[in-house]
Amino acid sequence: MESSRKRHGCAVPLVLIGLLTGCSSPSAQPAQSSRQPPAAAVNPITVDSTEEQIRQAVGTARVGRKLTPKTWPNGARVAVCLSFDVDNELLQRANPLPVPLSVGEYGATTSVPRILDLLDRHQVPATFFIPAMGIMLHPEMVPAILARRRHEIGVHGWVHEFWPGVGDAAKEQRLLAQSIEYLTKASGKRPVGVRAPSSGFGPQTFDLIRKAGFLYDSSLLAADEPYEIVSNGQPSGVIELPISEVGNDYVYYGETANGSLPSPDAVFEIYKAEFDLAFQERTMFILTQHPHVGGRRSRIVQLGRLITYIKSKRGVWFATMEQVANYVKQPRS
Ligand SMILES: [Zn+2]
Repeated sequence: MESSRKRHGCAVPLVLIGLLTGCSSPSAQPAQSSRQPPAAAVNPITVDSTEEQIRQAVGTARVGRKLTPKTWPNGARVAVCLSFDVDNELLQRANPLPVPLSVGEYGATTSVPRILDLLDRHQVPATFFIPAMGIMLHPEMVPAILARRRHEIGVHGWVHEFWPGVGDAAKEQRLLAQSIEYLTKASGKRPVGVRAPSSGFGPQTFDLIRKAGFLYDSSLLAADEPYEIVSNGQPSGVIELPISEVGNDYVYYGETANGSLPSPDAVFEIYKAEFDLAFQERTMFILTQHPHVGGRRSRIVQLGRLITYIKSKRGVWFATMEQVANYVKQPRS
């Protein structure tokens, strides 16, 4: 993310760049920094790799069966999932100073209530992926989300840690388990979905997700429709509801964008075009927003406009990601 580097200038040490830029944007993974490589051993693909080595290198989490049904519930032709990665202050954990923290805090104080009101006005559900310690910092968020009685809460790490950088599988497993436990206590329901913080999928991450019994993951980007993840050649039973960089507010606004460029109108047009083709192809449209980024005034106005546009089409099923995953999982003839 060269533009982000330019924006942050030399006041920000290189090692912080990944943490300051990305949430679910794969190009913003901290692993890109040469000073913070993934601790887990990853064998690079080189000109000397054998076919078998290349197959193994890419084999952890691949596209299996496509799971788009012939029709969605009530004959709908497209499923629409609005998802929010509620990162707030935790993107600043390497630099926890008042001003950068306040950028994230805005997400809890202002954006989440604003988003919940918008969703209520339109009576549409959404899925919120929240790091456990984000709930600790803002315990009012979960009751506020649950009070609307139509939303889902999913796992998004403990402190929004980058899983490939955790260091060992046992520790990564512990973090995942305590994140599930924390969300279960906070929401009264065991979460069934997970989205990796900063799209950080290490070599063992998928195995841990599968063993933890998740119904679905929403971290990968390999298709525009739901699919079953195949791991090392074996169907896993875990459903992927893939995201995209194009449908991610962070890609356009970043953390410190001044709101004038790119124009929120232009972002609306991109999202609209993405939805239009999903509607035409009868698949699925997933939007990924970050409250402290996309919940700013000029941007959430465009989100409202997008929801209004989508609702103007006949045959749209707004659903939580859990509802979509449960629907596509049902066996059909
Ligand atoms: Zn995130």
